[in-house]
Amino acid sequence: MVKRFDGREYNEVRKINIKLNVVDNAKGSAIFSFGDTVALAAVYGPKPSKMSLDYDKAFLRVRYNMLTFSTPERKKPTPGRREIELSEAIKRALEPALLLEEIPGSIIDIYIEILNADAGTRTASINAASLALSLAGIPMKDLVVGLAVGKIGEKIVADLNKEEEDYDSEKLKKDPEKSKYIEYYGEGRATDIPVAIIPSEKKFTLIQLDGEISTKELNDALNLALEKALEIKDLMKKSILNEYRASNI
Ligand code: ADP
Repeated sequence: MVKRFDGREYNEVRKINIKLNVVDNAKGSAIFSFGDTVALAAVYGPKPSKMSLDYDKAFLRVRYNMLTFSTPERKKPTPGRREIELSEAIKRALEPALLLEEIPGSIIDIYIEILNADAGTRTASINAASLALSLAGIPMKDLVVGLAVGKIGEKIVADLNKEEEDYDSEKLKKDPEKSKYIEYYGEGRATDIPVAIIPSEKKFTLIQLDGEISTKELNDALNLALEKALEIKDLMKKSILNEYRASNI
């Protein structure tokens, strides 16, 4: 029976890989992968702020960067508009889970590097940053979990890879090797919906939508995201607990 391009079920996320404390100089750091999409996050601080910012709470700075060798075609090294926008989106996705008023007058820096990109880099970044913040001891009410859901053709799926993000049934019809996938996904193109969730509150801190979708389908996609976010949070939590156990030996 035909399944997704990479053989996954509609609700299956790619293989998750987590590595913690990978950067010696950072207060907390983590690598989080969804299949071939690999994000590294390093947290520095909190350190006292010399700028006259809002002294009632800590100030969060996020820099998202895709390495030149992270894509099949060499990416330009200078930060583009996309990277500036994504840095801001990731910051806004994380902030509601952080208790920044507990560390007033300070700055926390999060540096994110995409080591390999196959779609879903902003959501992998959110997970890597969440883990790194937790390891850095930044007070937070929960881990923020990012993942993309979406509609490919007529099918609602979790965690789109690049080939799925680029889905177009009209193009596939001309490809004898790939046309069988139309049977699975259906007619049309892809709608990508990256989200971030605070699982304990079932609260969405990021919803972006690129494409078209009906209200009912959006609801189905967001419910799928919620279900998957709880599973991903469990994996993230387990990896942190294992790290603490290992470091106590
Ligand atoms: P996300 O990675 O969060 O899904 P986008 O939808 O903007 O963000 O990008 C989808 C994918 O397209 C990326 O993960 C990457 O594989 C590819 N991509 C994005 N920007 C570039 C670029 N400048 N050069 C090459 N590939 C890129």
